[in-house]
Amino acid sequence: MNTEKTNITVTSPLLPPLEEFLPYLQDIWDRKWITNNGNYHKELEKKLCEYLGVEYISLFTNGTLPLITALQALGIREGEVITTPYSFVATTHSIWWNGLKPVFVDVDPATGNIDPERIEEAVTPATKAIMPVHVYGNPCDTERIREIADRHGLKVVYDAAHAFGVEVQGESILNAGDISTLSFHATKTYNTVEGGALVCHSAEMKQHIDYLKNFGFAGETSVMAPGINSKMDEIRSAYGLLNLQYVDAAIAHRKNISDTYREVLNDVEGISMFEPRPDVKYNYSYFPIFIDAGKYGMTRDELYFKMKESGVLGRRYFYPLISDFEPYKELPSADPANLPVAKRMADSVICLPMHHDLSAADVERVLEIVSRKR
Ligand SMILES: *Cc1c(COP(=O)(O)O)cnc(C)c1O
Repeated sequence: MNTEKTNITVTSPLLPPLEEFLPYLQDIWDRKWITNNGNYHKELEKKLCEYLGVEYISLFTNGTLPLITALQALGIREGEVITTPYSFVATTHSIWWNGLKPVFVDVDPATGNIDPERIEEAVTPATKAIMPVHVYGNPCDTERIREIADRHGLKVVYDAAHAFGVEVQGESILNAGDISTLSFHATKTYNTVEGGALVCHSAEMKQHIDYLKNFGFAGETSVMAPGINSKMDEIRSAYGLLNLQYVDAAIAHRKNISDTYREVLNDVEGISMFEPRPDVKYNYSYFPIFIDAGKYGMTRDELYFKMKESGVLGRRYFYPLISDFEPYKELPSADPANLPVAKRMADSVICLPMHHDLSAADVERVLEIVSRKR
């Protein structure tokens, strides 16, 4: 008998049953319409609007292109964009790809999100927009950010890659800001293999964005802007429609895991977690814990490698900070002295395994190691 334990991965793609996907493929083959705003593309946009509680959505081939396109659509061609260093690199890359200058602002330790108190001091005459992230699906302080943006005439683009289905007081977080973007990458709560979307708030803006994601074509012989190609195809749209039927059950399972982790780890000295808000509907996309080495008796990295040796694959998410990566580290705002909270979080965080496929035994194995029972 093979007694070797398999690895417990940090994430696992939500895969719909293959036999249920085959009829969709048959239909696509029969109709011979495989991309360019086909039936499944249109249907998925409609179903996602209903599911997410938003009015206008445009599907994309991944979660990075809608970020890049958002800044294009808002006409931001030069200047600075205020953003968070505590995110996935794509957030800052999207600013750079528009020829704009990212300006990093420190985060709030209660959420991991950009600290509104610090945004205003980073505003200069060159500032054009704010790009916050609802990190781990924790909602940003969207009202404060809106006030600051309005006062200075700035656009707001939320990177909502982690915030699929997140609501505050019954309202989708995706309705905040000028534009919000989603990622449907395989590692995310809801996936279309690769994929993403952009949420906006008017029919005119959606039309504009739909042109931009198709080379800027506004008709057979007219191009209205230098667009890009980032259209989602029929195969992934169909897969997304099917996967949407499974996402609620997947989120419910994640909630159970989150509750169990929280209950056990609350009693472990040297581990801290985010405090959930009662008025927020979360999607439990990640389960970050923060290690205080002095109290825990082990550094974050010691725990990380110990977990790894035991086949429990956590993730130091987000470490290093984006501002510490080669392309950005020379920017004045990337100075670690400017970002003490983000730095402390990046140096102490581990995201525990969190996905719909974890069994109770897996969760127990994770907790045994993290709570130092062995
Ligand atoms: C995953 C992710 C992205 C990029 O999405 P892709 O679909 O992988 O291109 C952008 N921002 C954040 C915060 C992410 O986690």
